[in-house]
Amino acid sequence: MAFEIVTLNHSTYHLQSGANMGVISDGKRAVVVDTGLDDDSGRRIKKALEQIGVRLEAVILTHGHADHFGGTAYLRRSLPPFRVNAPPLEAAFITHPTLEGIMLSAGALPFDQLKGKFTLAPACKVDEELTPGLTSIAGFEVELIPLPGHSPNQMGVRWGDVLFCADAFLPPATLTKYPVPFTVHLGQALESLAKLESLQDLILAPGHGPHLPDPREVIQINRDALWRVIETTNTVLAEGSAEEGAITQAVCQRLGDPLANPAGYYLARTTVQAALVYLYEQGRAQIIAGGRLQWAHT
Ligand SMILES: [Zn+2]
Repeated sequence: MAFEIVTLNHSTYHLQSGANMGVISDGKRAVVVDTGLDDDSGRRIKKALEQIGVRLEAVILTHGHADHFGGTAYLRRSLPPFRVNAPPLEAAFITHPTLEGIMLSAGALPFDQLKGKFTLAPACKVDEELTPGLTSIAGFEVELIPLPGHSPNQMGVRWGDVLFCADAFLPPATLTKYPVPFTVHLGQALESLAKLESLQDLILAPGHGPHLPDPREVIQINRDALWRVIETTNTVLAEGSAEEGAITQAVCQRLGDPLANPAGYYLARTTVQAALVYLYEQGRAQIIAGGRLQWAHT
């Protein structure tokens, strides 16, 4: 996986890789935002900090997905002590990573296909749970901005004119490949996009893809992708009631999502479930009983 240290301004860096990481510094000390997928990501962060010439004081984890906190265990083993901060709820997934697999398999203990490194990272103790707003992390005055939707309590981290905005949006190429992007609440994800659009004069540094001085086009592409999931789900329901598995299959087929492996299926299934809940909350879908969980158009 390619790796590049991109300087966003004199004190802020975007470590661009498969999953990006951020470095906030004052020239001597640093806070790292997200730690990537695995030990390799941790190793790259350690090297980048050496190259920049700063000492790690704290880590902020934006959300509890394996590819955003998986490098923390390596950093804990190989650097002097530092504090780890994460939003509540997300912290539970970071402290007990098997929860991700449990969530994906609807509460059952996950089978081996849900225990690969993209869905199960090494556990990591969270020292502090974050609250939104201005806060001091290791002496750095950062602003924590709630960006839920992709995960329940995801938060962005603003430092000066840079906002590390985690997975609030994805690169257009990723959406072309996976048109049913992982989402736990469609309405909240749409609101998070609107919030990002309203923030003027910030450089957005996402969890995947390059930093964006002007994010409007990419935000619109993401908004369109979420609406396509909602409206396709609505169309499938309008054609007749069906159980969730059939709805997931129909939505993913129509949108061209490959569902190439079990993990991909379970991730897409969560998004389709979120679309059903969104339609239900809008009064556009209902659940018929009769011994089956069967969704129908209203
Ligand atoms: Zn994520």
